[in-house]
Amino acid sequence: MALIDGNQVAETIIAELKAHVASLKGRKPCLALVRVGDDPASVSYVRKKEKTAAEIGVESRVILPPVTISQGELEILIEGLNGDPTVDGILVQSPLPKPLNELAIFRRVSPDKDVDGFHTVNLGKLAQDDDSGFVSCTPAGIMELLARSKVDLAGKHVVVVGRSLIVGKPVALLALQKRAGANGTVTVCHSGTRDLPAITRQADVLIAAIGRPEFVTGDMVKPGAVVIDVGINRVTDPSRKTGYRLTGDVHFPSVEPKASLITPVPGGVGPMTVAMLMRNTVKAHALAHANR
Ligand code: NDP
Repeated sequence: MALIDGNQVAETIIAELKAHVASLKGRKPCLALVRVGDDPASVSYVRKKEKTAAEIGVESRVILPPVTISQGELEILIEGLNGDPTVDGILVQSPLPKPLNELAIFRRVSPDKDVDGFHTVNLGKLAQDDDSGFVSCTPAGIMELLARSKVDLAGKHVVVVGRSLIVGKPVALLALQKRAGANGTVTVCHSGTRDLPAITRQADVLIAAIGRPEFVTGDMVKPGAVVIDVGINRVTDPSRKTGYRLTGDVHFPSVEPKASLITPVPGGVGPMTVAMLMRNTVKAHALAHANR
């Protein structure tokens, strides 16, 4: 077994982006980060994105509407950012507190500034293998991790557990694309899948995006499989100062001995998500310049 070090790969990408941004003339890329309310995980994700942006030389603008903001008010705020020529990328941190309609907000973001890749236009472009749009950050990060770990999906059975808009569906589409590094045979599983272990045991590459701590156990994995653990779950741990620890969707102790390659949690897919957000922001900035 070997570990896929997401921190190291993300650092390499961040260094590449930093050099690129330093070479840009004129206004630097700008990312608007919208966080509604004070959900602790969202607070820490937005802080991390802000910090990474600063490291690269990307300007970030953090906007913190109160948890009481209405759908209409939030849509007006997004429209303002859409029309602001000094903003290249817009990220609305999910999950949005209830009763806000997250999908409607994702669709409000201009497709040209949709660095999260959740707009209908960008998901459509992904389904059409059209590179001109934005691919959502976690799926793009998974593909980049696989590519930089020299895992070629061509002809392999890729099993994705989870079909969310944010991870499962887009990563399945990416793995399926008829292009170098992809071209996998893809199976997508979900909570209605019958005999899940029989399917996961067929996976040459298993991608777990379930949101259930340590759900995938060693008996569900084929020897030699590549295992990508997308899960980030907070589980109570009184021995920690914070009172919790982070764990993935994969039971690392039983899966690690069987896998040929595996991502840890933390330090696997998570850092890649932030790196891909920065890459998308730099792309949005380049597109804005090209359209001037
Ligand atoms: P969602 O809750 O939106 O989706 C979970 C998916 O898992 C659903 O498709 C659901 O099926 C499926 N599922 C749930 N229970 C089972 C089960 N018993 N058997 C099979 N399938 C099941 O989660 P997300 O996709 O947003 O996130 C998944 C995980 O990834 C979470 O831990 C999240 O924190 C993490 N994450 C990590 C990121 C990173 O940067 N590393 C970024 C985004 C998410 P159904 O559709 O039928 O309900």
